[in-house]
Amino acid sequence: MTNAPEAYFPSDYRAARAAFVAAAEAAGLGVTSRVHPSVKGRDGKPLFLDTATIGPRDAQKALLLISGTHGVEGYFGSGVQSGLLREGIAARVPEGALLVMLHAFNPYGFSWDRRVNEDNADLNRNFVDHARPPVNRNYAALADAIAPADITVEAMKAANATLRAYAEEHGAFALQAAISTGQYAFPNGIYYGGARESWSALMLRDIFREELAHVQKLVAIDFHTGLGDSGAAAMIIEDAPGAPAFARASALWGARLQSTRGGGSLSPPLTGTLDEAVARLMGKGETTFGALEVGTRPTDVVFKALRLDNWLHLHGSPAHSRAAEIKRLIRDAFYPDTADWKRAVWDHAHEAVKAALAAIA
Ligand SMILES: [Zn+2]
Repeated sequence: MTNAPEAYFPSDYRAARAAFVAAAEAAGLGVTSRVHPSVKGRDGKPLFLDTATIGPRDAQKALLLISGTHGVEGYFGSGVQSGLLREGIAARVPEGALLVMLHAFNPYGFSWDRRVNEDNADLNRNFVDHARPPVNRNYAALADAIAPADITVEAMKAANATLRAYAEEHGAFALQAAISTGQYAFPNGIYYGGARESWSALMLRDIFREELAHVQKLVAIDFHTGLGDSGAAAMIIEDAPGAPAFARASALWGARLQSTRGGGSLSPPLTGTLDEAVARLMGKGETTFGALEVGTRPTDVVFKALRLDNWLHLHGSPAHSRAAEIKRLIRDAFYPDTADWKRAVWDHAHEAVKAALAAIA
């Protein structure tokens, strides 16, 4: 049965998980649920990282589809995963190949409508040597202005003036890089990579051991939202033009491809990414990893939501008088809950997955 694609998109983490598990079971896929040992969801109930797999356990080629790396961005990826299952992706997996869907990689952030995990850490900056994390001097110089501890109108004005002055001197992209490359020195800040390996990172290693053990050739798509024009899509990779992985990604995703190391990307190069972690877990195997970024709201709206949400959880409290307003803002910044947006991003995802499936035939 085929629904209108917008029907696949969930209303919250709990509904997303239920829809994913039901769709996987209806499609005859095995589901493995890894329960979070220490934190609960916004509804007080346990949090799970679920994987659904189809294909032989000893498969050498696989497609890995990941949702919810950035928590609140999971509405998109989860909707895509459930929709693909409902529309019969299981039957389109090439003979002998494996499909693994990783649902809610950061279930805490998904449930709480946060981009970060239970440690205020950005999972897509978390994969570093925590004994010797990268140093982001540009973030350090602007830390208080990027993630203010005070969100009164006057304090925000002063913070914004500091950021504006930096952008005027160094350029807007340099400011974006200072903010979002990743930082390891300000646990109360944004784009913080964490002080230790996250629970999700541990689970990823387990998934590679248990579910992808024999894979020699992997294509992975990690679904993200929040960068770019509303409803537009870019496949962002970390590999530089000229690298074999760039050529492979280019053959799959063509004109949508952007390399953070090739210039002209929506994103600056990042530290401690999932992309690098997956390549390390694959060892000598071949990895083609793309982050499918779909746009939501203008950059300033997204940035404002991130700062306010950071303030709410680090300096305010869920009972604060602005809590409901801020939680609405951040959800909307990463998940425009409209049928038009859902149809547009569904189409982008569908196209990217179709190309990836052909590559593991
Ligand atoms: Zn993201």
